[in-house]
Amino acid sequence: MLIQDLRRAARPARYRRQPILPYVNCDLRALLAEVHEQRTPEVCRRPGIFFVEQGWLACIVESQETNPAIYLHGILDNLEVPQAVFRFILTHELIHLLVPSAEVNGKMTSHPPRFREREQRLCPELPTVWEWIWQHLWRTLVIDRKAEGLRVRRDWARVLGRPRTVRVEFPPPVDFF
Ligand SMILES: [Zn+2]
Repeated sequence: MLIQDLRRAARPARYRRQPILPYVNCDLRALLAEVHEQRTPEVCRRPGIFFVEQGWLACIVESQETNPAIYLHGILDNLEVPQAVFRFILTHELIHLLVPSAEVNGKMTSHPPRFREREQRLCPELPTVWEWIWQHLWRTLVIDRKAEGLRVRRDWARVLGRPRTVRVEFPPPVDFF
């Protein structure tokens, strides 16, 4: 899911101020570095990566002013999510920085055939990852065809019978001077 519109980008950025403690079975920053170097070395600015509670399963926000940022939904912040799922999602989001949106049959799409070809080529894990996502998360996901993204239902934690993810509480800033 690619977000370039500044107004829409503000939402995940706002949630970023309430970060979620990562609780996954791998080092996501190391995995992002690996995926970047091995699969999409042409990407010049490596994005930041954040777990947030917002609508999309995953998205990348691209803007001229700042580094791109990948936002993963808190539903993925779980020990049971296989590393292959993260590897695939990170690759997918990085490809957005390489393959621009294009018009197909008179309609703009952020996943044109060139995007899908590259995704197929770079992600041998693709079929098994989708199988895992549908098998484990289908009750919480809504396909938004217009926005070309997967939304996570607000009541996902209840549906999965999971406690809501713990948010990091920062103490107020201290003024020493
Ligand atoms: Zn996408």
